Amino acid sequence: MLSKFKRIPWLKQGAESINSLAFDTFEIINDMLIIRWSDGRESYIQPAVLRDACPCAECSGETDALGNLYTGYGRPKGENGYQLAEVRTVGYYALQPFWRDGHSTGIYRFELLRKLGNEGE
Ligand SMILES: [Zn+2]
Repeated sequence: MLSKFKRIPWLKQGAESINSLAFDTFEIINDMLIIRWSDGRESYIQPAVLRDACPCAECSGETDALGNLYTGYGRPKGENGYQLAEVRTVGYYALQPFWRDGHSTGIYRFELLRKLGNEGE
């Protein structure tokens, strides 16, 4: 008896690979963040691109109780604002860069990092 349903294995695989976005290694070379993903791709992210995309409330803006949106004027970048001091992992979903001007509240989810890495291609 023939099965009524055909399996479409590639569709399932695609969905799984999106959910399991992960990196093998990352390193900082000349302030450039280089991430090697578990699917074999590499992302090269310039420090200025990384800092300007900072997703923290201070940099990306926040909404007050009255609904007014405040965008990135609250905190001017310091002299060393585009220099990476350190990058730490946050759980299994994000990286947290520490900048030499003392800023470190931006949590970059892998999806965002992957997007930033693709913009230079
Ligand atoms: Zn920020």
